[in-house]
Amino acid sequence: MLDVTKIKKDFPIFNNHQDLIYLDNAATSQKPQAVIDRIAEFYSSENANVHRGVYPLSEQASEAYEIARQKVADFIGAKSSKEIIFTKGTTESLNLVAHSYALENLKIGDEILVTDFEHHSNFLPWQMVSRKTGASLKILNSDKSGFISQKEWQNKLNKKTKIVAIAHASNVLGTINDLKKIAKIVHSVGAVLVVDGAQATPHLSVDMNDLDCDFYAFSGHKMLGPMGIGVLYVKEAILAKMLPYQLGGGTIESVSLDKTIYADCPERFEAGTPNVAGAVALAEAINYLSQIGLAEIRIHEIKLSKYLLNGLAKISRVKLLGTADAKERTGLVSFYVDGIHAHDLSDFLAKNGLALRAGFHCAMPLHQSRNCGATLRASYYLYNSEQDLEFLLSNLEKAIAYYG
Ligand code: PMP
Repeated sequence: MLDVTKIKKDFPIFNNHQDLIYLDNAATSQKPQAVIDRIAEFYSSENANVHRGVYPLSEQASEAYEIARQKVADFIGAKSSKEIIFTKGTTESLNLVAHSYALENLKIGDEILVTDFEHHSNFLPWQMVSRKTGASLKILNSDKSGFISQKEWQNKLNKKTKIVAIAHASNVLGTINDLKKIAKIVHSVGAVLVVDGAQATPHLSVDMNDLDCDFYAFSGHKMLGPMGIGVLYVKEAILAKMLPYQLGGGTIESVSLDKTIYADCPERFEAGTPNVAGAVALAEAINYLSQIGLAEIRIHEIKLSKYLLNGLAKISRVKLLGTADAKERTGLVSFYVDGIHAHDLSDFLAKNGLALRAGFHCAMPLHQSRNCGATLRASYYLYNSEQDLEFLLSNLEKAIAYYG
C-alpha cells in the first residue's frame, strides 16, 4: 500500500500550497524534490553542450544524456537505446512520425485509421498527412465504454490501411486499450501501429517487446519529469524508412556544399541542442517511479477510481464518460452534470482549493461523438488520497445545490 502522506512530502508544491487538492495530473504531474534537484545539479555542475566538445565537461554531459536514453529504453522495454528519440513531448513525437514516416511513405489510395477518442495531438497530424499525401483518413468509433469493437475493426481495417494511430489510454475516457491485441490486428494487414502513450507511461508499466508497437510517444512532464522533454520510441526496423524532417546541427555525419550524409539514429532525428537537463531529470523521475513501483501505483489508482466512481454514481445528475469498471481505467474520470456548465462547476471547486480541469481536454471530436458539451476531469496520482476525492465529491454536491 502506498504511504501517501510520506510520498506527498517529496513534492514541495504541496508544502508551498497547503490547501491545494491537485486533481489535474492528466494535464501535468507535480515534481518530486529529487527531479527538481537533478535539474539544478545539471546546470550547476555538469552544463556543457553534448556531442560536440572533446573537453571533459562536454564529454560528461554527453555521457549523462546517453545514460538517460538507456534508462528510458530499459523503462519501456526497448531493444536498444537507438530506438529512443528525445523530443519535447508527445505532441512533437507524433508530429515527427507524421512528417518523417507518414509523409515519406504514404500515397493516394492508402488509408489511415484513428479513433474518435484521440487527443488533438494524435489527430491533427493525421489530418495533415491525409491532406498532403491524398491518403484517406478513416475513424474508428468507440462504443459507450470507450472501446473499439471487433466489428468496427473488421469494417474499417483492410489491406489499404497503412497507419493506425491510437491512444494507449484515453485522456478523457481513461480507458486502457489492449495494445498487444491491437498490434496483432494492425500487423495482420501490414500496417504500422502508432501509439500515443501520454496517459499510459505515468501509470502502467509498458514493454515494447511485448506490446509490439511500431511507434510509441510519451511526455516526461506527466510522469514526474520536467516539461519540455518527451520520447518517441521507434522500432529499429522502421528507422530506415524515416527521413529527418528537422535539419541542422547534430543530425549529420558530414556536409559538403553539394552533399549531406546524416548521422546514425537517433541523432539524425534530434536537430539542434537537445534538452539535456530535461533528459537527465526524466531519468531521475523514472528512478523515483521505479522505487515506489508502478504496480503499487496501479493498485492505488484502481482503489481511488473505485471510490470516485462509486461516489459519482450516487449523485443523480452526474453523467459519466467511459467505462464504470475501475480496472479498465487509468487514474482519471471525466463527467458532466446535466444543466450546469463544467466551467461553473470548476470555478466553484477551485474556490475551495480543488484543481481540476473543465473543457474539451483537447479531444473535441470525442465530445461531439458523446453529444455533450464541456466535461470535468478529475485525474489523480500517487500523492492523492481518498480524502481528496471525498472532498471533491462533497464540494461537487454543494456546487450542484448552488447552481440549482
Ligand atoms: N496525448 C494525450 C493523450 C495527452 O493527454 C496529451 C496531454 N494532454 C498529449 C497527447 C499532448 O502531450 P504534450 O502536451 O506533453 O505534448
